[in-house]
Amino acid sequence: MFVYLIKVNRNVKSELDELKTHYEMLQIELKQTQSLKVIESNHVNVTSIPRLYKKERIHNRRKNYQTQQDSIRVFSSCTKNGVIAITIDDGPGVSTSRILDVFKKYNSKATFFFVGVNFEKYGNIIKPAFDEGHLIASHTWSHIDFSESTDDKIKEEIGKNNNGFRNLIRAVPRYIRPPYGTFTHNAGRILKEMGFEAAVRWDYDTRDWDTNQSSNVVSSFQRIFDSKPENSSFLVLMHDMEHSAEALSLIVPKLVEKGYKLVRVDECLGIPESRAYKYEEL
Ligand SMILES: [Zn+2]
Repeated sequence: MFVYLIKVNRNVKSELDELKTHYEMLQIELKQTQSLKVIESNHVNVTSIPRLYKKERIHNRRKNYQTQQDSIRVFSSCTKNGVIAITIDDGPGVSTSRILDVFKKYNSKATFFFVGVNFEKYGNIIKPAFDEGHLIASHTWSHIDFSESTDDKIKEEIGKNNNGFRNLIRAVPRYIRPPYGTFTHNAGRILKEMGFEAAVRWDYDTRDWDTNQSSNVVSSFQRIFDSKPENSSFLVLMHDMEHSAEALSLIVPKLVEKGYKLVRVDECLGIPESRAYKYEEL
């Protein structure tokens, strides 16, 4: 009997990928044996997989769109050419300072979607990131899936993360990346009530969660390396991991050399910097 523990962290996707591979193997097995019983008795938890892929397909069809009046807006792409917004999810972590060093060296900016569960251990790096001018943004407290959470749970997760940011930088981020890219109208309504500006997805997935080799992450940028800043822009999804940090030390100079400006998400969307945070009274 297989039991899969789906952890709420950056490994969740690779675990699910493994599960998918296993699921596919099972399908082959099923065809070979023509015996559904064997599959059912040996394995559990495969039912969520097709649904996850369905979500990804839905995401891929959507670009920037105006949601209903009572919800925040949702963006997946930059609104002008010549810019790349690199977004780093699931930190803060062991690699955050290394990532900051790379962006500092090439006078570039990034956006960090942080989860509060890491604040106790790595929160000290957030103030330097904020002071260096990167966009600090929310990714919920513990990486919840909005489509599977009650209103109260969503409010609690956002409120807790907001408090963490208040303590660390005396400001509350107004941009959020919904974990798994899953956005619901209901979450959008709650986020608007709580003062958020926009939800941010991506249009370029490096799939850095699917490898532990920095060379694979560098290769994942090939389509960007082959593009021209005059007619291209990218909103790139990456994660706070060691091999991604190492890859960025090669990627960032290459992009700058190509003539791209590496900017925060708000600049790539053409939204004034003044809308990035709600500031707290000292
Ligand atoms: Zn995430």
